Amino acid sequence: SILNTKAALDLSTSDQLFTRAQHHIPGGVNSPVRAFRAVGGHPVFMQSAKGAWLTDVDGNKYLDFINSWGPMILGHAPDIVVDAVRKAAGDSLSFGAPTRREVEMAELIKKMVPSIEKVRLVNSGTEATMSAIRVARGYTGRDKIIKFEGCYHGHGDSFLIAAGSGALTLGAPDSPGVTQGVALDTLTAPYNDLEATERLILANEGQVAALILEPVVGNMGLVAPAEGYLQGLRELCTQHGIVLIFDEVMTGFRLARGGAQELFGVTPDMTTLGKIIGGGMPVGAYGGRQDIMDQVAPAGKVYQAGTLSGNPIATAAGIAQLTYLQEHPELYTELDRITARLADGTRQICADLGLNYTVNRVGSMFSVFFTDQPVRNLDEAKTSDTEAFGRYFRAMLNRGIYLAPALYEALFISTSMTDELVDQYLTACRESMIEAH
Ligand code: PLP
Repeated sequence: SILNTKAALDLSTSDQLFTRAQHHIPGGVNSPVRAFRAVGGHPVFMQSAKGAWLTDVDGNKYLDFINSWGPMILGHAPDIVVDAVRKAAGDSLSFGAPTRREVEMAELIKKMVPSIEKVRLVNSGTEATMSAIRVARGYTGRDKIIKFEGCYHGHGDSFLIAAGSGALTLGAPDSPGVTQGVALDTLTAPYNDLEATERLILANEGQVAALILEPVVGNMGLVAPAEGYLQGLRELCTQHGIVLIFDEVMTGFRLARGGAQELFGVTPDMTTLGKIIGGGMPVGAYGGRQDIMDQVAPAGKVYQAGTLSGNPIATAAGIAQLTYLQEHPELYTELDRITARLADGTRQICADLGLNYTVNRVGSMFSVFFTDQPVRNLDEAKTSDTEAFGRYFRAMLNRGIYLAPALYEALFISTSMTDELVDQYLTACRESMIEAH
């Protein structure tokens, strides 16, 4: 086996770095989930990665199921992207002036996501969603937005209400520092419940600017939209003059070249993008109908700007990765097949052990919920056994499988996953499920 066979990993360099990090960085990390708080133990510090494999600072190797939380759909350090970045770096790291690459990137995005008639590049998914709701508010002249419990749209104030596994109180912020005033403009509804959303809209008739959702949710674990749900939301938004925003930061270019909207055949008014669009560099984008996007300055009056927006290195990486995806539609069929093997195999192993855990999958994203309930919304996701998951996570890590260090996350598969690696994962999965229970 190429996976770890030692009794326990040597993580001494990671541990030393984490001790140092905690003196200088809040919680020792630059994004909370990386701290392993949900699974116990210390985080692993990474050194390098290629294809499906990560190497940590102690030289341990791991088969990666996070892929940087989605961007690395072609696996780590694909030559075409790395070469494009090297070449662009020779020209300049940043101009703060328009470049040819920005035009090419916009054309490529529009070709792949036809609902986008105009697009603006930003530096993260958070910026994309924050900007999109500002534009929707400017366009409609309304203040409120609707989001769904368990959907995460980055850390903009308006979205830290029922975000992921956060508190569920209507109108109350999940995070200190988010004002009550902002929270009151964010209405929340349960995911996959069309009637509850319709009631919310009717109770706030004429006040809702935008309805934003992950068309396939990756942030309460992987949850798929029920049959007709996205179409139903589309119709409600059209009827009530609400801007429908699909947050495709995770699903864009992943579930299909044109994202979840292509896969489910439902057209939003606006789309937010991130992750894959930057090939691993910090990029986000928001776009949509021309009449809405023309509100954005300097075409219109809704302000949004960025010193590094459309950065040459980021656009070079994005163009290289998106062009590859555009030219290789067959890779989506293969991603679907290989991820089905991972998900179905995991479900079977659980069934063999009498666990009957729910495994949700759409395309190359999947989640194992440590519950035998079907999971269609956040409340159902929360019936999972978090203690058993923590034991499973550590057993898998010890066997060289790097899973998301939190239960309510999706796993992301890249084109570097092979049938041989699936077999190795399934062996580790069986052993770890036994060890965890
Ligand atoms: N929207 C969704 C659906 C996401 O999953 C994320 C991040 O995971 C974001 C927005 C925020 O993106 P970023 O972390 O790049 O700010």
